[in-house]
Amino acid sequence: MPQAARAQLAETMPPDSHEDTRTAMSGATIRRAFLDHVFYTQGKLPGLASPNDLYQALAHTVRDRLVQRWISTAETYLGQPSRTVAYLSAEFLLGPHLGNNLVNLGIFDEVKETMAELGLDLDTVLAQELEPGLGNGGLGRLAACFLDSLATMQIPALGYGIRYEYGIFHQSIIDGMQVESTDTWLRHGNPWEIQRSEWAVQVKLGGQTEHYTDDRGHYRVRWVPAKTVVGVPFDSPILGYRVNTVNTLRLWRAEATEAFDFGVFNRGDYLGAVSKKVTSENLTKVLYPNDETEQGKELRLEQQYFFVSCSLQDMLRLLDAHGIPVTRFHEKFAVQLNDTHPAIGIAELMRLLVDEHDVPWDEAWQITRQAFAYTNHTLLPEALEMWPLPLFQRTLPRHLEIIYEINARFLHEVRIRFFGDESQLSRLSLIDERGQRHVRMAHLACVGSHTINGVAELHSRLMREDVLKDFYAMWPEKFTSITNGVTPRRWLALSNPRLSRLVCESIGDGWIGDLDKLRELEPYADDTGFRDRWQAARRENKEDLARLVRETTGVVVDPASMFDVMVKRIHEYKRQHLAVLHIVALYHRIKSDPNADIVPRTFLFAGKAAPGYHYAKLMIRLITSVGDVINRDPQVRDRLKVVFLPNFNVTYGQKIYPAADLSEQISLAGKEASGTGNMKFAMNGAITIGTMDGANIELRDAIGADHFFPFGLSASEVYALKAAGYRPAACYESHAELRAVIDLIAQGFFSRGDPSVFQPIFGGLLQHDPYMLLADFASYLHCQQDVSTAFTDQPRWQRMSVLSCARSGRFSSDRAIREYCERIWRVKPVPVPLLHRAAMSTAGTRHKGGPGM
Ligand SMILES: *Cc1c(COP(=O)(O)O)cnc(C)c1O
Repeated sequence: MPQAARAQLAETMPPDSHEDTRTAMSGATIRRAFLDHVFYTQGKLPGLASPNDLYQALAHTVRDRLVQRWISTAETYLGQPSRTVAYLSAEFLLGPHLGNNLVNLGIFDEVKETMAELGLDLDTVLAQELEPGLGNGGLGRLAACFLDSLATMQIPALGYGIRYEYGIFHQSIIDGMQVESTDTWLRHGNPWEIQRSEWAVQVKLGGQTEHYTDDRGHYRVRWVPAKTVVGVPFDSPILGYRVNTVNTLRLWRAEATEAFDFGVFNRGDYLGAVSKKVTSENLTKVLYPNDETEQGKELRLEQQYFFVSCSLQDMLRLLDAHGIPVTRFHEKFAVQLNDTHPAIGIAELMRLLVDEHDVPWDEAWQITRQAFAYTNHTLLPEALEMWPLPLFQRTLPRHLEIIYEINARFLHEVRIRFFGDESQLSRLSLIDERGQRHVRMAHLACVGSHTINGVAELHSRLMREDVLKDFYAMWPEKFTSITNGVTPRRWLALSNPRLSRLVCESIGDGWIGDLDKLRELEPYADDTGFRDRWQAARRENKEDLARLVRETTGVVVDPASMFDVMVKRIHEYKRQHLAVLHIVALYHRIKSDPNADIVPRTFLFAGKAAPGYHYAKLMIRLITSVGDVINRDPQVRDRLKVVFLPNFNVTYGQKIYPAADLSEQISLAGKEASGTGNMKFAMNGAITIGTMDGANIELRDAIGADHFFPFGLSASEVYALKAAGYRPAACYESHAELRAVIDLIAQGFFSRGDPSVFQPIFGGLLQHDPYMLLADFASYLHCQQDVSTAFTDQPRWQRMSVLSCARSGRFSSDRAIREYCERIWRVKPVPVPLLHRAAMSTAGTRHKGGPGM
C-alpha cells in the first residue's frame, strides 16, 4: 500500500471512546458483542443459533478483547532491546482456549452471569469447543503450560510448531480394545487463529548440492532441491493471567508452491498436477501418534525440518523488518529446543547464515551456539532420535554436509581434549557408525547448544551420569536442571472452580499468579470446618466425574469410594499392568474370603496407546477385561469398580484430576523423566502413591514424607539389581499372593478361559521382566494397604489433601519459566500497557513485521 494511503487509513482509525464501547469488559458490552457475533459472524437469529453458533460467538467476543492486547503487545515489543524466546516444539497440547482465556482475562464469573441472563449455561457453551490435540502427552502439554507462563511472566516469546490438520487420534473402546479414528478438530473452523499468508516462506527438500566459487573467490554451496513447499503461518493469541501480554503461537501449514504445476498442466495431466499439490499438503496432515518412541519415518523428518526452517526464516524476516543484521541473531532470539524434534534447526541456522547470508563459518557457529539451548526429555533409548543416513541424505543433502563439517570440527576438539582415547570419538560422534549408520539428533543438539537441561533433578543426574555422560565430561558447565511445572490457571483455577473458590475465600486470589502463596492454606489443614468444606467441594467433583463415567461407559460408580486414578499414555515403563496386579490381588482376596476387609475403591484408568504399540494396546484390553469381570461380580460389585474412560485428553483431564483421591505415579524408577500429571493431581488435593522417580521425589520432599506414599526400588537399586542379575521368578516363588494373581490372569480367568490372550504380557514375565513389576509388587501391595488405612481415617486424609495442595507451589510452570529466564535465556519481563487503537494507528505505518519481537 502506498505510504500516503496507509497514513490516510491510519487517520480514520476510530477514537478511543468508540474503542471503549467496542471491547470493554462490562457485562452489558459483552452481552451486546456476543449477540452481534451471533448475528453478524454466525449469521443467525439468536433463536435459531446452534450450540456451536453460541460457542463461536462467545469465542469471537473474547477474541476481540485479546486482539486489542495482542496488538498492544506487538507495539510494546517493537524496538525494545529484550531478547525474544523462540520456543520450538513439534507438539503443543493446548486444550480448549475459551475457558482459559476467560480465566486469564479475569472475567469468567461475569461472563457466566451474562450468559445466564441470556438463559445460557456457560459450561455447556464451553463444552462445544473441540480441543486442538496437537500433541501426544506430557511433552506437548509442557509446551502449552510454558506458553501460558511465558505470557503471564510478561516475557517476549513466540511459540513455533506445526498446524497438524489431524491431531492426536480419537480413541474409542470397542469390545474392550482401543480403536482409533481421525481427530477432525478443524471441522467447525478455528476462531483462535489468524492466517498470515503474507509471511509465508518456502522450504526446500531433497535434491542435491552444487559446489562453486563465487565472484569474490569464496567457496560456496548451492542447494538444488527436488521440491519446494510453502509454509503458511497461522497465529494464535496466548494471553497471560491478568496482564496485557498476548504472545503468539505460530503454527505452520504446508501448501503447494503453486496451485498447478503448469508444465504438467500443459501436457494435459491435470490430475497429475493436482496430486503433486496434495503431496505437498500431506506434510502437515497428521501428528505422529508415538510417544517416547522413534520410528525414523521420512515424512516425520520432513515435518520436523519443515517447521524449523519456516520458524528460523521467520526470525530472520523479523530481524530484517527491524533493520537488525543477521549476525545479531543470538542477541535477539533465545531458541529453545523442546527435545530433539527441532534439533535440525542447528544445521538449518548454519545453512541460512553461511549459504544464504554469506556469514563465515566460524562466526555463524558462534551465533548458533549462543542462540540454541536444548531440553532433554527422556532416558529411554528407544526415544532417542536417530535418522538412517541414506534417508537423511535423500531428504536433507545440504544439512548432512553441514553436520559432517560440525562433526569434523567437534571431533577434532574431542581428540585434543581426550588425548589417546579413540573410543570417546565414536561415542561422541554425531554419526553412529555401529551397524547401519545414523545421525544422532541428541548429539547435534548437545554440540550446537549453550545449555542442556533435564526436567527433574533425578532425570538431570541420570542424564549426566548415563545418557549424555560423555558430553558431561566434555562440557560440565553446559548442564543444568529445571524441574517441570504446570500452569495453575488451567489446572486449578479453571478445572477446579469449587476448590478454587474455597481457597480464594480463605487466602485471597493471589495464588493464581503466585502459586507459592498456597502455603497460606497450611494452617487450614487443622481447621475441621475448613476441612469439611474442602471434602464437600472434592466430593462434588467426584459426583460430576461419576456422572461422566456413567454417560461415557455405562458403569455406575460410588462417589463415596476412593477414586484411585491412573491417567497418562499407556506404556510399559509407566506400568499400568502393575496397577492391574494390585486390583486382581484385591479381587482375589474378596473371592477367597467374602468378608475380607477391603476399602471400597473405584479404579479409573484413561490414556491412549500408540496405534502400532501392541503391548500397550493389550494393556488396555487387560484393564477392560478385568473390569468386565469385577464390575459384574455381585460379590465384589459394591467394593471394587474398574473403569477405562476413553479418549483421554486435556478436556477430560480437567474433569479427572480434580476428582481423584489417589494419584498413581508408579513408573519404574529411572524411567520417567519428570511427569507432570503427578503435579496436577497434587495441586488438586489428591494423595500420591509413587515410586522415587522423576519429579515424584521432589513432590514428596515438598509435600512431606508423611503425606505421600512411596514404594518400590530406587533408581540406584534398580541399576544394582539389574547388575547383580534380577530373577523375577524368585519374586513369584516367594510371594503366594503374587503367584495367585499371575496364575489367575495367565490361566485365562479374565479372558473367558483363553490363556493365550494375555500371554504376551504374562507369558515371559518370570524370565524377562524389564520393568521389574515383580520386584516392586510386594512393596506396592503393602503401600496400598497403608493407603487404605489412611483413607478410612477421613480427617487424616483430608488434612493430607489440604497440605498436598498447600505445598504444591513449586510445581507451577511460572517457577520453571522464571528459572529458564534466569539461567538459560537471560531475559527479563517486558510489561505491556493497554494501548488504544487511536494510539496504535500511527505505529501501524512504521511497523510491518507483525507480532513477534
Ligand atoms: C498432564 C498430561 C499428560 C502427562 O501426564 P503424565 O502423568 O505426566 O504422563 C498427558 N496427557 C494429558 C492430556 C495431560 O493433561
